[in-house]
Amino acid sequence: MPELELPIYMDNMATTPVDPRVLDALLPYYQERFGNAASRDHAFGREARDAVETARARIANLIRCDPGEIVFTSGATESDNLALKGVIEVAGPTKNQVITAPTEHKAILDSCKWLKSRGCEIVFLQVDRNGLVDPEDLRRAITARTAVISIMLVNNEIGVLQPIRELANIAREHDVLFHTDAAQAVGKIEIDTREPGIDLMSLTAHKIYGPKGIGALYLRRETARGRVAEQMHGGGHEGQMRSGTLNVAGCVAFGEACRLAGEEINEERARLARLRDRLQTALQRELPAAHVNGHPSSRVPGNLNMRFTGVDGEALLTGLHDVALSLGAACNSGAIEPSYVLKAIGLTNDDARGSVRFGLGRFNTEAEVDYTAGRVIEEVKRLRELSPRWDDAVKG
Ligand SMILES: *Cc1c(COP(=O)(O)O)cnc(C)c1O
Repeated sequence: MPELELPIYMDNMATTPVDPRVLDALLPYYQERFGNAASRDHAFGREARDAVETARARIANLIRCDPGEIVFTSGATESDNLALKGVIEVAGPTKNQVITAPTEHKAILDSCKWLKSRGCEIVFLQVDRNGLVDPEDLRRAITARTAVISIMLVNNEIGVLQPIRELANIAREHDVLFHTDAAQAVGKIEIDTREPGIDLMSLTAHKIYGPKGIGALYLRRETARGRVAEQMHGGGHEGQMRSGTLNVAGCVAFGEACRLAGEEINEERARLARLRDRLQTALQRELPAAHVNGHPSSRVPGNLNMRFTGVDGEALLTGLHDVALSLGAACNSGAIEPSYVLKAIGLTNDDARGSVRFGLGRFNTEAEVDYTAGRVIEEVKRLRELSPRWDDAVKG
């Protein structure tokens, strides 16, 4: 068995390392091919533009859309902001309602909060104990004032897959724009925009082995074009949708990351599901009261979010200095509050604090999974011996 390199990185839902093949594709665009993709007057510019258009086509190919429907941004946060604020701006004062869910990423929740301060009405669909919204709730929530519905494809903490097709179809029946934050889904599960329904979709490179700081917004030509106002004003880049000199190297890298993800999607999905099952089985074989958070089957393969009764997640991670896991979303780390996603699915504060997220990725191995399982088991047992809550749970 190859020797393990420590520490082990198992937090791939926060970010992923850049794949060496992606790095190889990207590097020339910082030096010999440094041109500005908007320079029309010389070969340097044309070369950069060609590279950007090749990348755009690769991203489009992964989600089966037309390259003209992809707008480059700095990442999913910007795409979420552009989608929600952009739609509301065009929709005008009579259509100022947004429908979303409490388990969305902060980029959605905080954009909604800002819109609310500007007079919009934000309606939250509740999620069940598995973290899923009920399409019938959406049907009931839509009014003549609804401008946009935003429900994420895959949740970044608990990995659950929302019933997007049903939700998007309901939106379409009511002629309401449907946006989905697909940052955790693209390249991991099949997404086909040729099926009608999704009008707007946020993507980011750094969750699929590309660099940080580059992403995209998909805008369906027939339904979304003309209904989203640009939020970044300047030179009119990206078809007036997002001004600013393109991050050419980032675009190239994002395109290459999408190409690789698409090529390897089936094998990778099966491999990650196997690793995830192996991890879960090992933990549950040795540890009583170790439960999975989120839907048991409607989920993305690399994610495992578990709670260990009687154990404080923060204490657990402190003891696990050689394995990088997380308590929840990276964007909320530093907060002492338990995860709002776990609270929304009905966990008590104690159970939410006793939960840990494992994010398996392309570079994790079986040996790493076995080591991680062993270390977590050891730490959970040690902490439970010290825990009055565990004593109560056992007695109760
Ligand atoms: C990571 C993530 C984001 C933020 O993406 P950035 O590219 O880092 O801005 C938004 N939504 C979800 C679901 C994410 O997982």
